[in-house]
Amino acid sequence: MCGHSIQMQAYNPNVSFIRPEQIEATIENASNPTPAQVQAVLEKAQLCEGLTLEETAILLQNQDPALDEQLFNVAKEIKNTIYGNRIVLFSPLYISNHCANSCSYCGFSADNHELKRKTLKHNELVREVEILENMGHKRILAVYGEHPRNNAENMVESIRTIYATKQPNGGEIRRVNVNCAPLSVEEFKVLKTADIGTYQCFQETYHQPTYESVHLKGKKKDYLYRLYAMHRAMEAGIDDVGIGALFGLHDHRFELLSLLKHAQQMEADCGVGPHTISFPRIEPAHGSDLSERPPYEVDDACFKRIVAITRLAVPYTGLILSTREGPKLRKELLELGVSQISAGSRTSPGGYEQSQQEQQNKCDTRQDSEQFSLGDHRSMDEIIHELVTDSDSIPSFCTGCYRKGRTGDHFMGLAKKQFIGKFCQPNALITFKEYLNDYSSEATRAAGNALIEKELIKLSPARQKNIRICLAKTDNGERDIYL
Ligand code: SAM
Ligand code: SF4
Repeated sequence: MCGHSIQMQAYNPNVSFIRPEQIEATIENASNPTPAQVQAVLEKAQLCEGLTLEETAILLQNQDPALDEQLFNVAKEIKNTIYGNRIVLFSPLYISNHCANSCSYCGFSADNHELKRKTLKHNELVREVEILENMGHKRILAVYGEHPRNNAENMVESIRTIYATKQPNGGEIRRVNVNCAPLSVEEFKVLKTADIGTYQCFQETYHQPTYESVHLKGKKKDYLYRLYAMHRAMEAGIDDVGIGALFGLHDHRFELLSLLKHAQQMEADCGVGPHTISFPRIEPAHGSDLSERPPYEVDDACFKRIVAITRLAVPYTGLILSTREGPKLRKELLELGVSQISAGSRTSPGGYEQSQQEQQNKCDTRQDSEQFSLGDHRSMDEIIHELVTDSDSIPSFCTGCYRKGRTGDHFMGLAKKQFIGKFCQPNALITFKEYLNDYSSEATRAAGNALIEKELIKLSPARQKNIRICLAKTDNGERDIYL
């Protein structure tokens, strides 16, 4: 559905655009910033024009708690101006844990012989999708291990099944994002035929020696092939891509500056930067000693600073929290700039059905096929209730931009002009209303409707009138209304 032509510049996929000596020198040169330097960067950040790597390195190494408080305030201001209090919800859908690679932090590693391997069959996939639809999900992230079974054609078939699985009450998945191993340009072209939303792939660590030490066998050992995955995706016409690093493998300062460098390089070579940046922190994974004791563990305080600084550095890029954090930290991270979170997640193929059976049988068999363990097993409704009552956040299930073709450089153009409010705010309210009418508990419905009303009265009379018309249509049973 992303129909915009991408003008690629020539690039050399055999040479890394991450120059470790430059990144390390940038960190070193800003190692002891003065309060005046930090203040100057914070002032510049308020213009919402982003930060250079040098400026980012200054913020990363600030030691003054009072200035960190100012950093958090600026991040909140930017988040509020650009995104308001919307939070996009999605759920991962693990389709296959077959994997030929050996990543020392992941439960799906080929060396984990205790893992029960599974690639969902057609009817099993349909069942998982039905469960997600019955929770109220409209967008999912399809996740695949790297294995010949998970070739581009098979992934396309599974994505088509996801889109085709619909419920009588209007339940359907409207956007399938994909997290899979890097593909060739030709394979990406095949993947694109399935109308995917965002293609997501994390470099894990941008520090090549560390990368090589944790990727022990399989295609993933090739650092450069992964580094240029987004370039190839763009070449194939996929203009909505998401990058990320797995925090805990190497120095977080190196990883964050490299993520920003990656974004800059994409802008230079592809004409558009990443749509999203993800911040997975290493979670304990069955069969992985490294995941129990990550070499560069990022604690909550550091994680908050990473999110806030990224919000300042790339104000218009969506920030995704893919792991489940506790309510207090999550609330803080939402205020500081996170714009998408997963809810009600399971990290094994067939995990949603398994979890339903576990609830019925009161047993727990999760760890035999899951990728990593999750700290939070609350239902989607409980999470939404907390979002609405604790943080006044509007859960959004909107998929409008992607389906109206507002993607890639076109989307960034709109975002940069701060037009998100024109589409995103109304669509968030309308899709939230759908959720409340079709899926929520009584308590969440009452709290959610009160929040919608509170939001409406903040808007201009004209916009309020338009949205009220859409909400009334939703109450009358119309579905999938979006601007
Ligand atoms: N196999 C593909 C790949 O490696 O890109 C895609 C699927 S892989 C399961 C998706 C992501 O899971 C990885 O990119 C990695 O960042 C993340 N991951 C792996 N092990 C993890 C762990 N122990 N905790 C948190 N995230 C993890
Ligand atoms: Fe396989 Fe991806 Fe896990 Fe590595 S991170 S073992 S490639 S599923």
